[in-house]
Amino acid sequence: MIIKIKHEASEVQIEQLKNWIKSQGLSIYFSEGEHNSILGLIGDTSQVDESLINALEIVENVVRIQEPYKKVNRKFHPEDTVITLENGTKIGGGNFVIMAGPCSVETEEQVIETAKHVKASGANVLRGGAFKPRSSPYSFQGLGAKGIEILLKAKEVTGLPIVTEIMEPKQIIYFEHVDIIQVGARNMQNFELLKVLGAVDKPILLKRGLSATYEELLMSAEYIMAGGNSEVMLCERGIRTFEKATRNTFDVTAIPYLKSVTHLPIIADPSHAAGMHKMVKPLSLAATAAGVDGLLIEVHNDPERALCDGPQSLKPEKFDDTAKAIFKIREILSEV
Ligand code: PEP
Ligand code: MN
Repeated sequence: MIIKIKHEASEVQIEQLKNWIKSQGLSIYFSEGEHNSILGLIGDTSQVDESLINALEIVENVVRIQEPYKKVNRKFHPEDTVITLENGTKIGGGNFVIMAGPCSVETEEQVIETAKHVKASGANVLRGGAFKPRSSPYSFQGLGAKGIEILLKAKEVTGLPIVTEIMEPKQIIYFEHVDIIQVGARNMQNFELLKVLGAVDKPILLKRGLSATYEELLMSAEYIMAGGNSEVMLCERGIRTFEKATRNTFDVTAIPYLKSVTHLPIIADPSHAAGMHKMVKPLSLAATAAGVDGLLIEVHNDPERALCDGPQSLKPEKFDDTAKAIFKIREILSEV
């Protein structure tokens, strides 16, 4: 249930109403807007008398929320969430970012060289996997903690904030200086991990599960927000369908749909969606045109020799060309 408060309501009146709601055993999600403030009621509201609240002088209206997700719901928080990274980079609410870098961290030289290239082309965040979820136990499993050290070195050299994936709660000790913690598609419903991230004071990039519905993705974000962390971004990275020609099927519809139902920033990952480097540019442009708040793109200085996801990784020159095209689409978007 949400209660829209009239603009002229005093702080004392709002406080009285909040206290009454709490006395009913409910918790409150308060969102202060430019025109109206909103009180989102969380818990079992079935016994709450709507007409009683509606009759209050300070209440504009009361709406019952059907969706199971509350804190991520745009009805609870009409304005876009804007996430600000430590270096001041903003994501969401019209602030667009490109996160780029290798699938996995292999060597210091590889990461720093790639980082310098992507920065020069306009990327705002460096990506790189240290803990890698691989389908085969015989594939390269990532450098782990050493990989994070390399990313931190690249951050120091280039000034780029870093995003890297966590696979299990006990790894959190390595993430102190990481700017954005990524939850991979395979862990979208690792609820114990989501609960741990709910207690962390860092932005989370939550990727959509391979066969997860929008509601399941939103409910996973709700886990993080319910734990107290409101800095969550959702990432469409392609889903599994009956089509076998591409690695996944990029669900462009997810972008406007999610943007309409949640206030959280929406990111798209065209690299894992396509699985082929040739498709990364057109899908990046499609996602940008559909209104994403950012892109996550795999770039490798030597894709032929990459230890992970080489076929879908862009060479630095191709990333540069793709970034230029993305910025052109952003310019056009501001005019239409
Ligand atoms: C990745 O970003 O490298 C990754 C493993 O992505 P996903 O979880 O979407 O497969
Ligand atoms: Mn990858």
